[in-house]
Amino acid sequence: MSLLPPPTALEGLPWVPSSRVAALRRLGLLTLEDLLRHFPRRYEDRRKFDRFPDGPSETAACLFGVVKKTSYKRFGPRRIFEAILEDENGGLLSNPITLRWYNMPWVQKMILGGHRLVVYGKPRERSKRLVIEHPEFEVIEDEAGASLHFDRITPVHGAADGLPAHIARELIHHALEETDLSAIPRLWPEGRTGAPLLPDVWRAVHFPLDMAECEAARRQLVRDVFFGIQLILASRHASVKKNGGFARLGTGILWKQVETNLPFALTDSQLLVMEEISMDMAAPHRMNRLLQGDVGSGKTMVALRAMIQAHESGWQAALMAPTQILAEQHYLNFRRILDPLEIPVVLRTSSRREDSMGRVDLFAANPSSPAIVVGTHALLYEGAEFERLGLVVIDEQHKFGVLQRTRLIERADAPDVLVMTATPIPRTITQTLYGDLDVSVLKHRPAGRGRIVTAVRDVEKLPAIVDFLRGELTAGRQAYIVYPLIEESEKLDVKAATVEFEKWCALLNPHAVGIVHGRIDPESKESVMRDFREGRLAVLVATTVIEVGVDVPNATIMIIEEAARFGLSQLHQLRGRIGRGPEKSWCILLHDGAIGSGLEKLEVLEKTSDGFEIAEADLLLRGPGDIIGTAQTGLPSLGLGDLIRDSDIMTDARKLALNILEEDPELRNSSHVSMRNYVLKNAIQQELSAG
Ligand code: ADP
Ligand code: MG
Repeated sequence: MSLLPPPTALEGLPWVPSSRVAALRRLGLLTLEDLLRHFPRRYEDRRKFDRFPDGPSETAACLFGVVKKTSYKRFGPRRIFEAILEDENGGLLSNPITLRWYNMPWVQKMILGGHRLVVYGKPRERSKRLVIEHPEFEVIEDEAGASLHFDRITPVHGAADGLPAHIARELIHHALEETDLSAIPRLWPEGRTGAPLLPDVWRAVHFPLDMAECEAARRQLVRDVFFGIQLILASRHASVKKNGGFARLGTGILWKQVETNLPFALTDSQLLVMEEISMDMAAPHRMNRLLQGDVGSGKTMVALRAMIQAHESGWQAALMAPTQILAEQHYLNFRRILDPLEIPVVLRTSSRREDSMGRVDLFAANPSSPAIVVGTHALLYEGAEFERLGLVVIDEQHKFGVLQRTRLIERADAPDVLVMTATPIPRTITQTLYGDLDVSVLKHRPAGRGRIVTAVRDVEKLPAIVDFLRGELTAGRQAYIVYPLIEESEKLDVKAATVEFEKWCALLNPHAVGIVHGRIDPESKESVMRDFREGRLAVLVATTVIEVGVDVPNATIMIIEEAARFGLSQLHQLRGRIGRGPEKSWCILLHDGAIGSGLEKLEVLEKTSDGFEIAEADLLLRGPGDIIGTAQTGLPSLGLGDLIRDSDIMTDARKLALNILEEDPELRNSSHVSMRNYVLKNAIQQELSAG
């Protein structure tokens, strides 16, 4: 297997106009291969356009027509440019349609009366007229280019300011003609599948003759990329297993004591998963494991069991949480359990360092003492302070980056790594995101929990809801009121939150109400949370800072304002804050006349509390991109691949990658070097830009 040829830069190629280079760069297109992998976003069949519509529609129409006239108006700060488009027969066959752009002066320079246009967009009714606002459009200029742009299935590639779609199309057409396509590196090894990636695949996906050919080509390219991804994951997995690692057997004595003192019996799921983890830690290789379990399934106990095993083996154990609130909560929880056994626990967050003796920074003063350390992920960057780090538990993994995990794995003390996530992830995605990890799943939640009733309500019902809430508070329950606002920098929202807070104080008087959000300093946040946890506050007005992990079993009501503004999985996470005690709980999702998919989304939550079902619905409603947060994977982009539609390809690719690495461990050192470098570069850039 040979090394890949060096990439060809687009800049300097005779057929790439220098005036386009900046725009290409903005799209992330630097090399010839980048350009060839700039796949169409969609295709338009320009042999057969849609009929001019008679009424508004939720689906976009692709129309071809002639510009009858244009006009330009100013309304205060708004500049409105309009073009009237009619069919080629002078509007004999249908009514003309209005195309409208706001504040986009350059469009006016591009579209003139008499131009032939292809437009794409949703027709809507505006003051009795049929209008497409901000349609995608392309001026069909001359017959010379016609074969490329017109009278065929035409690809529509992602465009940028300075690189309109038809120029992108021309450049890609050029690239296909000028490149030796058989030299483009393939990831899927020769001879393994009997289906080589033919040069024609590139042509077929960019300029298909028909959609069947296009789909076949797309699947070949997807297979290639998915295989590359799986090969990376499989080799990461193999190298983690191979490099270092210690047997951390423990004695089981301390845990026995903990277990006897617990106020509940562990679930079968917990016992099973604890056993898996215990064996993995006891083995002489390092553990690299994902623990998946829905909100409230009891992951913390599983983590604690593992941490005690590390401690018993003479190693330190650290638990990292994504937020300070959560770190603090784990710390208090652990101390309650571990203080009687005299196992020292240390809290390390950016704002506070405390140990179980109330002394600050014992850890720094006495660095060799094996201890259980709880902190926020800032802790990780200071990881050098650990003397003998035997286990790292990362709570709520979706908030962490892959590189951070990698940094841990490279430590000389080769800590075992346990990653915990409550986000239920469909299987294909687990294979992709966490394909380098072994997986344990907590399948069942503890019994004896109160039911959660979820209700979607119009805000108009608020007075009745307040009455109900007051009744529950008087009965001794606690409540969360959640707002979608107040992210770090939004001054205005802070003001709004303060107003809302005062409103709730007045409405619920004499019950005590507190508030936490991202702009409150860590000290006050901590003390508000403590007051809520310990029952001095009856109600907590909060933002999504309470989204993950917060555990106050007496809180049985959650009112979520403007619920339609949250994502489904996020709502599910939020709802996981209640229903943690034996009492029946209520989650009230308020909306302000939400319609369509907004309401549909909320109704999913009314119907089910199964995290996997919700994750799948979310995937369908939003598409996978959002859920995965590709920035976190450190993997190459999926290209034309779709994790749902192409899950069969991913499964095959995974099998093949595992087989190949088993037979031929050297493979990853040869032809895939450049892919791996690419991945690393990508991951680093993403982590940097994430701050
Ligand atoms: P999550 O998986 O969401 O992190 P936690 O670990 O915070 O869930 O557990 C949620 C609550 O359930 C906690 O109050 C915890 O003490 C309690 N819990 C854990 N295991 C059990 C069990 N086997 N039976 C009853 N309650 C349990
Ligand atoms: Mg948790």
